[in-house]
Amino acid sequence: MAPRDRTDQTRVAKDLRPEPDVEEDKEVEVDIKKPEEGAALRETVEDVAAEVKAERDLEGGERGKRKAQSHAESVAVLKRLNEVGYGIDEELKLDLVFNPLGPVLPPAQSELEDTYRRELKARYGIEFTRLITITNLPLGRFLDDMRRKDEDARYWRLVKESFNAQTIEGLMCRHQLHVGFDGTMYDCDFNYALGMPVAGEPGTHIRDFAPETFVRRCIAVGEHCYGCTAGQGSSCAGALV
Ligand code: SF4
Repeated sequence: MAPRDRTDQTRVAKDLRPEPDVEEDKEVEVDIKKPEEGAALRETVEDVAAEVKAERDLEGGERGKRKAQSHAESVAVLKRLNEVGYGIDEELKLDLVFNPLGPVLPPAQSELEDTYRRELKARYGIEFTRLITITNLPLGRFLDDMRRKDEDARYWRLVKESFNAQTIEGLMCRHQLHVGFDGTMYDCDFNYALGMPVAGEPGTHIRDFAPETFVRRCIAVGEHCYGCTAGQGSSCAGALV
């Protein structure tokens, strides 16, 4: 199913949920404007996660035009997903993902969800299942960007001072595992991005995986972990508390 252009396509994650408690995500591309591909999507993909560009971020000039176009495309895709049944039928979930643009923590997830539900329905007639907030972890391009703007020290202080012990139980690394393409195991996606494999015995390759060792392992942590434990906490499923 090859899409013709970015307007006509959306990337969706197929949650296979295999046994044991290890999740595997698979990306597929579909042209959801085609009725037959919309139907195929319903058949094969249970949950869709979408990122929406906020209208209030629109600016003037070329950059503003690109953002306006991106916003319009997001709205069109969400409307089409609603038509196919996502966010409407109980078994077809449509989750929206909110990620702060700058070095701040996301607002309270439930309040933000109420606002998005009200505004998207009133402005565009769009419905969705739930909104999840994700904190920017201080690493990679986000960290580089903050360093360029001399905002990194303030953000580090913010996430450390916002440490919330109640988030610990729900941290992704306590319930999931990331397996690299070469079979190396990581405690989470962020550690994978940082090249920090799981620590300890018997080894770091998936062939060494044993449930009893896995649940007793010491998680490889670093300063970036403060991003997961700040405020309401953060995971791929949104806030933790
Ligand atoms: S970044 Fe740290 S706290 Fe967050 S999931 Fe990974 S190991 Fe756990």
